[in-house]
Formats: sequence, structure tokens, C-alpha cells
Amino acid sequence: MQEAVFRPIPAEPRQAKVRVHLNVRDISKLGWKRSFQVLWAVVKGMSMTWRHLFRKPVTFDYPNQKRAQSPRFRGVHRLQRYSDGKERCVGCGLCSVVCPSNAIYLEAAENTPDNMVSHGERHARFYQIDMLRCIFCGFCEEACPEDAIVLGPNWEAASTHRDDFIYTKERLLVPLEKKDEWFRRGMTWPGEAPDTVPTSTDLPEYYMKLKKKEERKKKKEAASA
Ligand code: SF4
Ligand code: SF4
Repeated sequence: MQEAVFRPIPAEPRQAKVRVHLNVRDISKLGWKRSFQVLWAVVKGMSMTWRHLFRKPVTFDYPNQKRAQSPRFRGVHRLQRYSDGKERCVGCGLCSVVCPSNAIYLEAAENTPDNMVSHGERHARFYQIDMLRCIFCGFCEEACPEDAIVLGPNWEAASTHRDDFIYTKERLLVPLEKKDEWFRRGMTWPGEAPDTVPTSTDLPEYYMKLKKKEERKKKKEAASA
């Protein structure tokens, strides 16, 4: 049987050898051409750092500053109203049928002469969207014959509670006092003012920058032609 070999414990722990790959002495050994290349790389790197120190930051101080959204951005839904305050939704259920995620649940009820909620025969008594299921495809907006459901510009839908992602009718419906002010798309009720769609001039900073860039590009192209 082989005897166990005990190695003596070193008196002092071994020091790890640290290799410095490049120091001033090494540079002098490199030859003038290679040394110049190394120093040039350092100068180039540092100049980049200094340039960025004085540049306007590209990041935003969220939530104090918010980036403008594209007019075609599809965020959290809204249930629209006519300017007389009535709901656009007539409870037809097309949005629910077309939804590929099965995120919309609604129950329709008849309008009565005492309770005309919409201009149609029926209205949505109960309407709910599960935002955790929604993939923001916009099919519901496309399918809606009344332009009642639209995907608005709100993208701040984060929460730590699952229940907060169930958007009930009360949360989706445009508040009465904001019915004209809020962004609307689609058809209007007879006699209503035409719908207002935000244009690039409504979203100043970002789009004006893009516009200027495009103009500069066109000028350059025209000058070179
Ligand atoms: S955007 Fe698409 S996934 Fe979301 S509720 Fe509408 S149809 Fe469903
Ligand atoms: S939102 Fe539009 S498609 Fe959906 S039930 Fe109402 S009217 Fe019909």
C-alpha cells in the first residue's frame, strides 16, 4: 500500500505573479513605430472620452423628462366618447372576436330611452382588457366599426401588481371633461368637428430634429447633383 505523502506547508503564502503587460520601459523597447502606435491609441481613446464629457446627453431624465412618441405609437387603449359625451362603443363585440390574444372581455346591454349610453341600440355594460395578454397589435382598433377603441400614446403601464393590468371600462373610458381635448381618431358624429390627429409639429423636439436632418440631407444631395 502506497504511503500518503504530506507536503510541508510553506512558511509564507505564495505570491501570485502579476505581469504588467505594458509599462513605460516596455514602450521604450518596442521601437519608435510601435511606441507611436500605442501612444496614439491612448490619445485617441482619451480624446473620445473628453469629447463625450462636453456633449449633450442622449439620455432623458425620466420621469421628469419624457421622450415624444411617434404619432403612430400604439400604447394603452382608450374607449372614446362623442363630443356630446356619449360612448362610442356599441357593444358589438368585434374587437373581442378579432383579438388574437383573447385579451378583451365585454358584455353588451340594450340602451333604453331613459338610459342612452351610446348612439346605437346597445352599449358595453362591462368592458375589460387584460394588458398582460395584449400584444398591442392594434387589430381591435382596426376592427371597431365605431372607432371606439383606440390605442393611445400612453406607454407607462408598469406595475408590480398583476391586478393593475386588468383595465376596466372605468379606466379605459375617456373622462367626460377631456372628451374633446384627448387625441381622437376615426369617424365623427354628424355635425362634429373633424377629428384631430397629432402631426409632427405637435411633437416638437424629436420630430423637428428629424425634419432638419432630412432637409440638410436633401440640400446636400441637391448640391452634389
Ligand atoms: S391590441 Fe391586439 S392583442 Fe391587444 S387587445 Fe387589441 S386586438 Fe387584442
Ligand atoms: S370597442 Fe368597437 S368593436 Fe369593440 S365592442 Fe365596442 S364598438 Fe364593438
